[in-house]
Amino acid sequence: MADRLRDATLHSAVTVSTSRPDTPPARALAPVGSLGDRIANIGVTVVPLLLLGFAIYIAWGGTLHWQDLVVLAIVYVPVGFGVTVGFHRLFTHRSFQTYPALRALWAILGSAAVEGPVIEWVAYHRKHHAFSDEVGDPHSPHVGHGSGILGALRGLLHAHVGWVWFNDEPAEEDIYARDLMSDRVVRAVDRTFLVWVVVGIAIPFGLGVALTGEVTGGLTAMLWGGAVRIVVCHHLTFSINSLCHFFGRRRYETGDESRNLAWLAPFTFGEAWHNNHHAFPTSARHGVGRWELDLSGMVIRGLERLGLAWNVVRISPERRAAKLAGTQA
Ligand SMILES: [Zn+2]
Ligand SMILES: [Zn+2]
Repeated sequence: MADRLRDATLHSAVTVSTSRPDTPPARALAPVGSLGDRIANIGVTVVPLLLLGFAIYIAWGGTLHWQDLVVLAIVYVPVGFGVTVGFHRLFTHRSFQTYPALRALWAILGSAAVEGPVIEWVAYHRKHHAFSDEVGDPHSPHVGHGSGILGALRGLLHAHVGWVWFNDEPAEEDIYARDLMSDRVVRAVDRTFLVWVVVGIAIPFGLGVALTGEVTGGLTAMLWGGAVRIVVCHHLTFSINSLCHFFGRRRYETGDESRNLAWLAPFTFGEAWHNNHHAFPTSARHGVGRWELDLSGMVIRGLERLGLAWNVVRISPERRAAKLAGTQA
């Protein structure tokens, strides 16, 4: 456990108190999600899925405005980067630094993705890096699901959405996200999570009304820019946990099953270069070389050029080559 926490500190920028015991808290004492949490988690994953079915049904019947898809794109892009650039690369791994106002904005955008409050999200993801594909990993497709095709399917389902529903590996925020708990800006956004969820659903409604001049246009825009957007973002994020620990190529030996899944990279804004990411967790870029499209890395580069990001973490070609040599040895 001590080694794991040291690794987490090194690779994921976790600040861990030295006064903490070396052994993990007993599972029975850990803050397992309440029944209310579980119902909420199931609700936010199932209800948007049902609404997606409804959206497709009414679109089939002819009720789909071009404005709905415009609103979907307008809202999806910043919220998606809120997860990848904000929650993941900025808050979890500290791949770059920025102004407090921009930290607040990234936390707000990520919150609108309805994947949980920022501190909880970060705690789970840091725990994933600390225990990747071993006992303790909140969402490994490889641990404790049995063998054969059934075991593989069970593992994939657990890594994709089962862990969200049943939450059997809680991530203690005071252990894994202590730095963010003492960050006033991040804490404020964390505590007002539901506000940003509602704002993220209200904005598509407002855009729909503005673009169509009708309330019904606002409602269908809210369906696509709200519910459908949430489903798409959820399942692309979940795919990193499931598909990118199961299918694809392993460039680096990382001690886990993380993989690079090239076809998924454009849709996940670069997050599917997941083996690269496990090899160098703090790197602002997950794509290696110019052909590995990494839109989130490009956003961070753009912010840096504008003077809005600094201390951007880059991995030197020498370090990458050394890691590759270690892999091939
Ligand atoms: Zn991973
Ligand atoms: Zn990560």
